[in-house]
Amino acid sequence: MTGKIGTVPISQVVSCLDGYDPDALHVDKAREAMRACIAPLSETETLPIRDALGRVLMQEIVPAINVPAHDNSAMDGYAVRFADIESSLTEIGSALAGKPFAGSVGLGQCVRIMTGAVMPAGTDTVVIQEVVKREGNRIVVPPGQKRSQHVRYAGEDLKIGVPVLAPGKLLRPAELGLIASLGIGEVRVMRRLRVAFFSTGDELVSIGKELKAGEVYDSNRYTLHGMLARLGVEITDLGVVRDDPAALEAALRRAAQADAIITTGGVSVGEADFIRALLAKLGEVLFWKIAMRPGRPMAFGRIGNAWLFGLPGNPVAVMVTFYQFVRDALLHLAGRTDDYAIPLLRAKAADNIRKVPGRTEYQRGVLFKDGTEWKVRTTGQQGSGVLRSMAEANCFIVLEHERGAVKAGEQVQVQLMEAVA
Ligand code: AMP
Ligand code: MG
Repeated sequence: MTGKIGTVPISQVVSCLDGYDPDALHVDKAREAMRACIAPLSETETLPIRDALGRVLMQEIVPAINVPAHDNSAMDGYAVRFADIESSLTEIGSALAGKPFAGSVGLGQCVRIMTGAVMPAGTDTVVIQEVVKREGNRIVVPPGQKRSQHVRYAGEDLKIGVPVLAPGKLLRPAELGLIASLGIGEVRVMRRLRVAFFSTGDELVSIGKELKAGEVYDSNRYTLHGMLARLGVEITDLGVVRDDPAALEAALRRAAQADAIITTGGVSVGEADFIRALLAKLGEVLFWKIAMRPGRPMAFGRIGNAWLFGLPGNPVAVMVTFYQFVRDALLHLAGRTDDYAIPLLRAKAADNIRKVPGRTEYQRGVLFKDGTEWKVRTTGQQGSGVLRSMAEANCFIVLEHERGAVKAGEQVQVQLMEAVA
């Protein structure tokens, strides 16, 4: 079910938020407002673990076995009894990974052991082979060994009965392996989100047609495709829609079959009027002016069972508002409960950066290493139509709401666009 949809009007939810001002909305407040309105989905499916990569776990994982299942050796060497390590020891057999030593080890005895082999009964310590002196089937251990060294204990990684993964966790390669280490082959995950999008604008032309005067190729549907594909959602691309009420209404009705609708263009002042009336007829949609750059005008609301994100048309503004708001809202909708905020890191500004207080800016930056220091410079021209600034960037330079101009050498915050997943 889709939770709060249809129960509480979103205007009522947002009006309860401290400092909510639709005409000068702080970026944090916009994010908070969306999260407050959206209730996570709860429809799940069960998948083989490989297919669950990138999905949101919707069950708790509680080990039914210890991992490792037995105490075992972390090194190649000799399993010994620490108590009589100082005598010369007789090697009475060997323990290999998957081939345990069957007997037990008495006074003055030891067993040759390989990494991963079960610790033989009676032994508690491993002496690595490199330090041992061998004479026939006897070994001499040098002083300085520590009790229990190089032993991995049963349950040291995962313990029977102690929950290890919580619902809402993103399944990354590490989680797939961890689940496999418990012998579990299938997991319950959130179903994939369905997201529909279209571009609006009479000037837009799809690839394959000639441009006439005043026309531009639609690039937003391609950046959106890329960003949504990376989030792992099911995508419905509804193409370019003319600035025409009947065409827009038809597109919105189709898109409303998805969990979320993303539109680009048509929310700036002047264009918003007829769209505003249309959206009010089809659902409940708020129009915001966000204190940010780029990406000031934005619409948020719902149409039927779908959440609507009306992004500005400018190509850079689309990407910035997607990463700063839509991504967050979709991950919340998909049931994520782990911390999915994009981390803010610090770097030194390589040059002066223009900025006025009163809005959060997301300038496009290049983070680079200068000697031992990480520095960041802007990609130059920062117009919200200059998509090249995104293509050249490897990070956003996030300049806080209150901050004014930045001088070279000052610390600034950056958000990496790519990181290990
Ligand atoms: P709008 O928000 O509709 O006023 O559009 C703002 C600017 O973004 C205008 O210059 C549009 O031509 C441009 N724009 C809008 N949608 C797209 C698109 N899908 N691809 C490329 N540019 C666009
Ligand atoms: Mg337009």
